[in-house]
Amino acid sequence: MKDRFGREITYLRLSVTELCNLRCRYCMPAEGICKKRHEDMLTEEEMLTAVRAAASLGICKLRITGGEPLVKKNILSICRNAAGIPGIEELCITTNGILLPELAMPLREAGVDRINMSLDTLDPQKYSHITRIGSLKDALLGLQAALDAGFKRVKMNTVLIGGFNDDEIQNLAELTLRYPVDVRFIEYMPMPGALEFGPDAYIPCDMVLKCLPRLEPVADESRVARCYRLPGALGNVGLISAVTNDFCAECNRIRLTADGKLKPCLHSGQEIPIKGLSQEEMTEQIKAAILAKPRCHTLLSAGAHSHAGRAMYTIGG
Ligand code: SAM
Ligand code: SF4
Repeated sequence: MKDRFGREITYLRLSVTELCNLRCRYCMPAEGICKKRHEDMLTEEEMLTAVRAAASLGICKLRITGGEPLVKKNILSICRNAAGIPGIEELCITTNGILLPELAMPLREAGVDRINMSLDTLDPQKYSHITRIGSLKDALLGLQAALDAGFKRVKMNTVLIGGFNDDEIQNLAELTLRYPVDVRFIEYMPMPGALEFGPDAYIPCDMVLKCLPRLEPVADESRVARCYRLPGALGNVGLISAVTNDFCAECNRIRLTADGKLKPCLHSGQEIPIKGLSQEEMTEQIKAAILAKPRCHTLLSAGAHSHAGRAMYTIGG
């Protein structure tokens, strides 16, 4: 289905939980998660009904996210059932990777096509600092598990944070020389509830091009990343300029939060509830969400914060 600005909306990002086994400083407030009542969250059946409704309107790509989707007890069942919904052609998952050693193969068998893994640093101390509680060793074992399970084109998402990991751009990009992965640098977004980095943290992705003049532009199907490659690399380096160069004109997505709110735009506070509705009613609400998509989100910068109205872990990145 097209929105009011002629954009064909084909992509649903479904957050299956707000819970997480990490506490990334740019995503969660220091005090951690405020757990909601179980009865306020979508059930598995409601999630699947929403995916069926979305597929009936032309959604063909589904990304499962969170919070950390792999801490959800019934994640394999959600994936298996979602993959089988007619119209869903591609099922992807975004994860911090910590639980991939045990879950990569079962996810593949459950019908997950692609994995995006978040990793912001290759320094063990910095990893523990940025995630507050995580271990780099576990994340790297997760990356290896995704590759061993045979996932193709694993993407590694790195939030670029001035003063934190801008000195690691080369090391991170050079992972593409050793592994068949795409490394994607994402600009740090000023999201509610997680604003502990100062103005210097906001650096443009173009910094990557300055650091690595050897990068050569390559064509890629991505709508949001500008893609490059290091000579001899096994994967691409992508730049996602979410702050300095929004991709609203290309936006083909809507979001559904774990507590049952459709979000037409990541950076808008507008939310459309679907919990407790029938498939027909959900279909109407999804239509309303698509038609409510704004042409563009408001300007983002160190001084102009996102109007999302919630922290990232409650939306799904
Ligand atoms: N827990 C999973 C993970 O970390 O991959 C999935 C959920 S997480 C909210 C999804 C993505 O959002 C991650 O790649 C994370 O780095 C990104 N993210 C969270 N907060 C962000 C922020 N303030 N700016 C840019 N990206 C952010
Ligand atoms: Fe958890 Fe992902 Fe947010 Fe980190 S970015 S706190 S792993 S939801």
